[in-house]
Amino acid sequence: MDRKLPVKWAELSSQERVMSFDEVSLGYTEEQVLKEAARCLQCEDPQCSKGCPVGIDIKSFIYHVTQREYNKAYNIIRARNDFPSICGRVCPSEYQCRKSCILTKKNSPFADEKAINIHLIERFVGDYGRKNKIPKNIKVTEKYKNKKVAVIGSGPAGLCAAGELASSGVKVVIFEALHKPGGVLVYGIPPFRLPRDVLAHEIKTLQALGVEIKTDIVAGRAVLLDEFFADGFDAVFLGLGAGIPGFLGVPGENLANIYSANEFLTRVNLMSAHKFPEYRTPINVGRHVVIVGGGNTAMDAARTAVRIQKSKGYEINVKIVYRRTEKELPARRFEIGHAYEEGIIFKFLTLPAEFEGLDGRVSKIKCLECRLGEPDESGRMRPEKIPGSEFIMPCDTAVIAVGLGANKVLTSVTPSIKTDRWGDIIIDPNTMATSVKNVFAGGDIVGGEGTVIEAMGMAKRAAVSILRSFDDK
Ligand SMILES: Cc1cc2nc3c(=O)[nH]c(=O)nc-3n(C[C@H](O)[C@H](O)[C@H](O)COP(=O)(O)OP(=O)(O)OC[C@H]3O[C@@H](n4cnc5c(N)ncnc54)[C@H](O)[C@@H]3O)c2cc1C
Ligand code: SF4
Repeated sequence: MDRKLPVKWAELSSQERVMSFDEVSLGYTEEQVLKEAARCLQCEDPQCSKGCPVGIDIKSFIYHVTQREYNKAYNIIRARNDFPSICGRVCPSEYQCRKSCILTKKNSPFADEKAINIHLIERFVGDYGRKNKIPKNIKVTEKYKNKKVAVIGSGPAGLCAAGELASSGVKVVIFEALHKPGGVLVYGIPPFRLPRDVLAHEIKTLQALGVEIKTDIVAGRAVLLDEFFADGFDAVFLGLGAGIPGFLGVPGENLANIYSANEFLTRVNLMSAHKFPEYRTPINVGRHVVIVGGGNTAMDAARTAVRIQKSKGYEINVKIVYRRTEKELPARRFEIGHAYEEGIIFKFLTLPAEFEGLDGRVSKIKCLECRLGEPDESGRMRPEKIPGSEFIMPCDTAVIAVGLGANKVLTSVTPSIKTDRWGDIIIDPNTMATSVKNVFAGGDIVGGEGTVIEAMGMAKRAAVSILRSFDDK
């Protein structure tokens, strides 16, 4: 074995995976995880923990893995991260902990291929804890037993806040607008990346801690913010997420069979539209699918479309249109690799200019070629249209995955909650407190679309502040 390179893990072959929604990455076996953990240099001043948004003691948990002390490793991770089986699967670790691993070259934009596969070691340990039902350390404080907190939204932020508070003895009720809890973990990220039994286990664990989950309740419509306090809640946590899709604003975007990525993924992930008519929600996926965007959402939509095309007996023909180059693609590097392997074609430096239709349905997309110009406010090179470079591609299904904005249903009827110009809730970054007393917020509703572990990190900070506010009384 070349100790300089990470241990390879098993994956379904690209032929196997496009035939189903089964999980693609199979993670490490015990033998593999021991070899990968043994590659860790156990640095004196480890940088990897600084790259993790919740500061997991990575060096220690990896050490315990090398000693086969999986219980200890699990408890070290759980001290900072309640959902290791989830983060081990979906964390963009190449931009987080692995980017800070000493084996990654300095100033690299993302983790070097030599970096320790921290996420996969974490996934192994998380799955071990899940399968062996290792309980969470709970420190119920008598003082909190009479306290009640309403958590609005059941994405990673809401679930994490609920877990933290319930572990201290607080009575927590989660209110979720959709019919299933999980937020993006259930309606956005497909099961071939995050199997539903992993999420179901975490939700059951929360319920076992006493957390009550009420679905199909839209806060701001069914219940107003003041009503939670009138109903006896002592504090409210807002984990509303960024579920409002962005669009291109080009002619023809209203034609039939053009979906926002959120609608496309929700139809499949939450309503099983790919199994229509067995399930009642339909989805139209034709022979020429174009996905616009370059983030995780675009990769998930493209890979979902591939599976639906395959199930219909079509040739795989899914193109991702992105206005910058491969280097700037914001999606996880693993998912980009999987997209290539599954036959998805990338059209870089390409910008859609117009959709054309036939009988009200999209049939073509007119695009322009771009080149990269000066950096924009995000520091990335700004794509510039090349005049006269128009070209047409056939397109009978399009999915727009160009960013998500704040869910404003609650904030739009609660002006006392201060928001910024994008509709994100303004908070005190130290306490996650909003402009309204005893109301806290975290996750994508604060600062826009981020990552699962960042949302959980914010929720943890908010939970600490909520408990502290009880201490102050
Ligand atoms: C398709 C897709 C793929 C992604 N892939 C990754 C990935 O691989 N790795 C990663 O780290 N991150 C990924 N992300 C980003 C990540 O999922 C988010 O950063 C994270 O889910 C944010 O968590 P949250 O709890 O703030 O919001 P959400 O997960 O959006 O959850 C918010 C919840 O609040 C509910 N809600 C909103 N308003 C109300 C209301 N008024 N009343 C009641 N309920 C309400 C919503 O229905 C939703 O369930 C992805 C995002 C998408 C869309
Ligand atoms: S939670 Fe994510 S960033 Fe933190 S150690 Fe695990 S994989 Fe890395």
